Amino acid sequence: MRILILGGTREARDLAHIASGERGFEIVSSLAGRVRAPRLPEGAVRVGGFGGAEGLRSWIADNDVTAVVDATHPFAAAISANVAAAAGDSGVPLLCLRRPNWPDRPGDRWVRVPDLAAAAQVTATLGERVFLTIGRQGVDAFAGQQRQWFLIRAIDPPAGPLPPRREILLARGPFKLENESRLIAQHRIDVLVTKDSGGDQTEAKLAAAGEAGIPVVVIDRPPLPEGVQVVETVAQAMDWLREKRIELGRG
Ligand code: NAP
Repeated sequence: MRILILGGTREARDLAHIASGERGFEIVSSLAGRVRAPRLPEGAVRVGGFGGAEGLRSWIADNDVTAVVDATHPFAAAISANVAAAAGDSGVPLLCLRRPNWPDRPGDRWVRVPDLAAAAQVTATLGERVFLTIGRQGVDAFAGQQRQWFLIRAIDPPAGPLPPRREILLARGPFKLENESRLIAQHRIDVLVTKDSGGDQTEAKLAAAGEAGIPVVVIDRPPLPEGVQVVETVAQAMDWLREKRIELGRG
């Protein structure tokens, strides 16, 4: 079976690693090419966009793909919509692997918002000094905030307009609780902003914010495409791949 894994996440790398080690699976991982020096998965890797749902449908056909796993980031909504359309058209089985949301804990001061624009609005009411941990994309939603100061953390420098009062911190997780608590104290942070990305790599900031008693603006995930089967763990995705291998073997 030739499996296309749409990646860019740790789960995608873990799945590529495990599936590559099993008989009967040939893995091709696809990366968008956003990060300058990405952590590469095991097996074959292709980089760059496909050219929308139509380009992806052709790629699946031209490369004899037997099944697709969408293991992209929970906020990568465009590629998830494209692959749902492309797999639907081609009749190729598709599974979506999405790690669970972050749950808040008793005492946490979370404010959930639907999108980046709402996050910028709400954050402006919550404090002067903001720890912005939404990644490289979307920082422009905060560019109009003249009054607040931002500590902006991302793997690569953010593109587009930025808020005028800021410091950029280039760093890649996993992050430890001590590190996050130190940053919050050192920069006298009033409010943390995050996407509800889930996963343990960047979760420590939430505990650190809880301990410091500061509010957290949490941007909700975009909805998943309708009708796509979803699992939460790499083990469940492996089970699905094995089931498909048995089905195809029978066919
Ligand atoms: P997006 O808005 O859903 O995608 C925009 C376009 O980028 C897609 O239409 C597609 O171009 C291309 N693309 C996205 N993911 C791709 C992949 N895995 N392989 C090939 N092309 C891909 O996605 P995004 O938010 O820019 O995220 C891009 C990548 O970064 C994803 O792989 C995601 O897992 C990873 N990532 C995203 C975030 C985030 O917060 N959004 C955080 C961490 C990692 P075409 O239409 O030309 O095919």
